[in-house]
Amino acid sequence: MCHYARAMTGRTPPDETGTERDAGPATPADRLHAIVEQGLCTGCGICQSVAGSEVVRVQKVVNGYERPVVVGDLDHATVDRIYEVCPGTRVEGLPDRLVDDATHVDPVWGPWRRIVRAWAADPVVRHEGSTGGVLTALAIYLLESGRVDLVLHARPSTTEPTFGESHLSATPADVMAGVGARYGPTAPLVGVDEVLGMGRPFAFVGKPCDVAALRNLGRLDQRVDRLVPYMLAPVCGGYMPPAATAAFLERMGIDPSEVTGLRYRGRGCPGPTRIETADGSTEAHYLDFWGEDESMWMLPWRCKVCPDGIGEAADLAAADTWPGGSPTREGSDDDPGTNAVLARSAAGLELLEAAERDGALVIERDATIDEMSDYQPHQVRKKHAVASRYLGMADEGRIVPATARLRLDELAAAMPADEQARQRDGTRVRIGRGKATEPRPEAARPEVQGE
Ligand SMILES: Cc1cc2nc3c(=O)[nH]c(=O)nc-3n(C[C@H](O)[C@H](O)[C@H](O)COP(=O)(O)OP(=O)(O)OC[C@H]3O[C@@H](n4cnc5c(N)ncnc54)[C@H](O)[C@@H]3O)c2cc1C
Repeated sequence: MCHYARAMTGRTPPDETGTERDAGPATPADRLHAIVEQGLCTGCGICQSVAGSEVVRVQKVVNGYERPVVVGDLDHATVDRIYEVCPGTRVEGLPDRLVDDATHVDPVWGPWRRIVRAWAADPVVRHEGSTGGVLTALAIYLLESGRVDLVLHARPSTTEPTFGESHLSATPADVMAGVGARYGPTAPLVGVDEVLGMGRPFAFVGKPCDVAALRNLGRLDQRVDRLVPYMLAPVCGGYMPPAATAAFLERMGIDPSEVTGLRYRGRGCPGPTRIETADGSTEAHYLDFWGEDESMWMLPWRCKVCPDGIGEAADLAAADTWPGGSPTREGSDDDPGTNAVLARSAAGLELLEAAERDGALVIERDATIDEMSDYQPHQVRKKHAVASRYLGMADEGRIVPATARLRLDELAAAMPADEQARQRDGTRVRIGRGKATEPRPEAARPEVQGE
């Protein structure tokens, strides 16, 4: 049970005007919504699966994100369970049982058995893929080799053109429907209880926070370890807040309400960002969408304080390989895409090597930890900064996610003391300015035709 959360009062965090609301003892809904209000919801959807869709529904809310809205009779015991599995309140590294003598543990990059540069052997998968199509190639290979019956992952949303949505694939064509990275809200775990209920082995592909949620569920629900032999993750720096995506579309001269489809990247690496409207399509560069460097990235608060963007709990994680962390405009036109792949568990390593042996993947060569850090300097910086940011959150009386096996204190201690203090103070300042606060989630009004 999560005592700190149960003891909380119904006081809301200060909003942008600094106003706090004291609503008396915390109700179950207050406690669930506190995760959202304190900017810690990742939008993964697992709370809906834990509570049941008749009680909690993860849906688009007024600020444009997908967030849990209480729609039924929520009790404290269910919220206790949600606090145990939510990746806003708990994030753990690879389970101990998957770590053995063959595992190396790097302070930044965590557990790994082999690191390679690789791409999908099928040129179509490589071209369509976000980077080199490795995750899609492996998901297809898992189905075709009979290792799993199904793959739970995400595809472009059928209702919100800038979002992703949960997708259960049984065929290679289904898997291909989810190819590519989506930088909008995506809740792959909304229906995971139902998928577990099918009793069939399945692989899961999701962001590191999604994988953390599923591993957390595995601590409470034995079906996870029995039925999910493979968890795969893209390394993730965070997604784009819906308001920032709308601002990008407006900069492109496109009314966000007219968008019918948005392909963030893929078809080369990174490939064009392609926006569809009833009048046709417009293309932009990845750098037009994200900005020229990390300092311009707009991210949800939870992503700024993410303790694990590198998929530590996954059997295998796949990343980009741009030196310095961003593509260049000149280098993007004809880059066919190469993933860096970290096989973390024995299952991840066996999968990687079997997929190469059976012709599903091409492994170019082994890669080093130093190369990983060169490809992902933002991940290295965040990993060092997170523990200090958590101290700033604690200073402000905020929920601090429970973490384990992520080496966060050790990494913070490797930073100079003044940098640790700067991270801690900066977090306090941002919280004080309302930058880490979201409104209580309220379902967005469905768009009315003709408005
Ligand atoms: C939000 C986000 C941020 C990222 N940040 C980084 C980063 O900082 N550094 C880096 O190296 N790489 C980052 N990536 C990963 C990179 O874009 C590629 O996804 C990764 O290299 C795998 O490439 P691939 O070609 O193997 O993927 P693909 O073969 O195209 O497969 C992608 C798989 O991921 C699933 N997926 C896509 N989007 C989502 C989503 N939003 N939520 C859950 N599942 C999803 C798809 O269903 C598909 O199964 C990010 C990806 C995302 C989605």
